[in-house]
Amino acid sequence: MLFRDISPVLADPAAFRVLSDAMAAGLPAGTDAVVAIEARGFILGAAIAYAAGLGLVCVRKPGKLPAVRHRVSYALEYGTATLELPEDTIRGGQRVVIVDDVLATGGTVAATRELVEHAGGVVAGVSVILELAGLKGRARVPGVDVTALLTH
Ligand code: AMP
Repeated sequence: MLFRDISPVLADPAAFRVLSDAMAAGLPAGTDAVVAIEARGFILGAAIAYAAGLGLVCVRKPGKLPAVRHRVSYALEYGTATLELPEDTIRGGQRVVIVDDVLATGGTVAATRELVEHAGGVVAGVSVILELAGLKGRARVPGVDVTALLTH
């Protein structure tokens, strides 16, 4: 599959601002925190959280965190991946929005949802730049509002 590289968009000051502001404006009312997925999700998540005046929770690939609240492994097309939630980030009852660059099969956001819910949080939405609609990723997060700036 074609890799959708957001690097040129990030390098363009007007484009980076427009997309960060649009994603921040699209956060559901009552969002308490932004949950960003390593690594490109961090860039967008930080900009969105800053613009919206919210805190940022960084979900990490394995082996990076000194204290892990919870860990989830999930299947990829070839092999598995693991994501970890840091300790002392999400509080019970918090409503969060998950941010990443691309929604493909949805395995990554589904695993992130599991991390959030294990910590007692609620996923109020998923926000991405690009949704690869043919892969039906949004079906992996039923009941969650998925917002994409672009659909392909
Ligand atoms: P998935 O779990 O299949 O929804 O994959 C989403 C994750 O993999 C995101 O963190 C994306 O950054 C990355 N990803 C998957 N497919 C692509 C693609 N075609 N182009 C760019 N990134 C992708």
